[in-house]
Formats: sequence, C-alpha cells, structure tokens
Amino acid sequence: MRSEPSSGGPELSGGGSPLAGAAEPADATDPALGTVRPGQPAPGAVGRVGPGAVEGLAGPEGPGRRQRHELWMRRALEVAVTGPDLPAVAAPTGGGGGVPVDDVPVGAVVYGPDGTELAVGRNERELTGDPTAHAEVLALRRAAERLGRWRLDDCTLVVTLEPCTMCAGALVLARISTVVFGAWEPKTGAAGSLWDVLRDRRLNHRPEVYGGVLEAENAAVLRAFFR
Ligand SMILES: [Zn+2]
Repeated sequence: MRSEPSSGGPELSGGGSPLAGAAEPADATDPALGTVRPGQPAPGAVGRVGPGAVEGLAGPEGPGRRQRHELWMRRALEVAVTGPDLPAVAAPTGGGGGVPVDDVPVGAVVYGPDGTELAVGRNERELTGDPTAHAEVLALRRAAERLGRWRLDDCTLVVTLEPCTMCAGALVLARISTVVFGAWEPKTGAAGSLWDVLRDRRLNHRPEVYGGVLEAENAAVLRAFFR
C-alpha cells in the first residue's frame, strides 16, 4: 500500500518548524538542531546524547553538522524529484523530466565517512514492481556494492521521508552510523512516529537519528505529488 500523506494535512504541514526556513541562521549549536518534534512519541534525545553528541560543533575544515545535513538533504530532494539517473528538471514535481509519475518521490543518498557521495536511490516501487524498491534500500544496496561490503560503518544515509519499518530494519542491518530524514511520516514512520526501530535498545545497533531536516521542503514535494 502506498503511503499517502494526506494533502494539506496538519501532520506534514511543517508549519512552525524551526528547521523549515531556508533563510534561517545556520548555527550548528542551535538548540533546535536534531530534536524530535513536540508530540512525537520518541525519546527527546535524537543524537544529542551519548556518543557523537558533540559531533555537531563545526570542525575547522568544514561546515557544522546542521549545514552539512541540510546540504545533503537538498541532494536527496534532488534525487527524489529527478531520479538518480536523470538530469535536474525545472518542474519540481509531477510528470516533468521523464520521471515515472506513479512513484512517490522519495530520495535517499548514502555518504561515506569523509562525506563522499557513495550512492543514491529513488523510490522505484511502481517502476520496477518491486515492493522492496524503496529509496533507502536501493541506496544501501548500491553503497554496499560500491564499497564491496555489507557493513556501512561510519556512513550516513539521508532520506527525504521518515523511513518505514523495512527500511529502518535494513539501516540497522547495514550498521549505518547516522540517519538523517526530512518529513515525518505519521502513518508508517519507524524512526519515531509509529515505531522507533532505529533507536530500539533491544537491537544491537542504533544509529544516530536526525529528523525533520528541511521538513517543509520535503513535505511540500510529497504534498504536491499527492494533490
Ligand atoms: Zn521504506
């Protein structure tokens, strides 16, 4: 079943999100960074406590964590809208650019430990008729293929929509270190909405999770698709 954020629904409106505005000051120490949205059932700590909690401070050689996540999310959005193998098109959504219009525009990118883009994936369920062809799974497979191993330690997966249970499970199995996602998905989300597979203490691997990155932009793309 296709997950369908209700058009104009309050859950994806992104209104009032501290991470929504493109013009907001890019401050890696912003207290809003990486927090779970109020009302989410997930614990209040999203990569803000425990190992890596101070990772967000801007390093001498690069942008801070927040800027990096937003930069990477824009790339994931580009993949969602244009597809991994297609050039960027002007039309933000819908039938432009030869992108199969039936597939929900979700994009994912895997970055290596040094920030190198390893692989991308776009939801291709309708295109391929494969129920597992979610953006995250495709990106994980391609990244593993490129690295020649299934373990994706120290890698980051960035995806425009909160992962489902299948993808959250795959991310844990791949030992991915960090997951960054855009819009919340209250109907199927497994990174804090319905479940919190990524931070389930019963599992032997728990990535750091940052949700709601560029939430408004990501939600807008999905709303435009379902409209
Ligand atoms: Zn999925």
